[in-house]
Amino acid sequence: MAILDIRVLGDPILREQTTLVPEITDVLQTLIDDMFATMHAAEGIGLAAPQVGRSERLAVIQVDDAPLVIINPEIVSTAGRAKAEEGCLSIPEIYGSVERPERIVVRALDRNGTPFELEASGLLARCIQHEVDHLNGKLFIDYFSLLKRRSAAKDWEKEVGKYPNFIRTLEPGAPRPRKSRVRGEGSSEGAGESVDDGAER
Ligand code: ZN
Repeated sequence: MAILDIRVLGDPILREQTTLVPEITDVLQTLIDDMFATMHAAEGIGLAAPQVGRSERLAVIQVDDAPLVIINPEIVSTAGRAKAEEGCLSIPEIYGSVERPERIVVRALDRNGTPFELEASGLLARCIQHEVDHLNGKLFIDYFSLLKRRSAAKDWEKEVGKYPNFIRTLEPGAPRPRKSRVRGEGSSEGAGESVDDGAER
């Protein structure tokens, strides 16, 4: 399994639409394995294909012990509202509170191409929504107020220089994921696709 480079904010691919996965291939299986390895190396809990420079409509998630692959996902219903801090593996060091539906039902294919429907709430629901947003070119900072967006942009200006060509290369031998309750997709603190678990408290 390979650890892939992560694209950070500024790379246009993060703003592009993804395309439906037409069939499950060996190449796709390798991509899924590599995405899990990358997410774990980054101590994240979710990672979407555009974040590794790909346009497949696919994301991997691991909020608890159960790894979840969502291919061609669609959120078919939502309920409630909840606010919690999020972060993103593609926007390291930037965090902010995002309000989203508290419960969702997502329909997708698993890695074998079998359709399933999953009801989720709390952190898992938040993470799935964050990843599905990625597949539509949307980022969690888009939910910020104008004021908060400005300050995040300013903070990001200081960070982005660390990532030449908007590429974040993970160091090999990075620790395993989720030692604490990870925040979303996780960056150094485990926040990238970070959904702070503050969410659920
Ligand atoms: Zn993200």
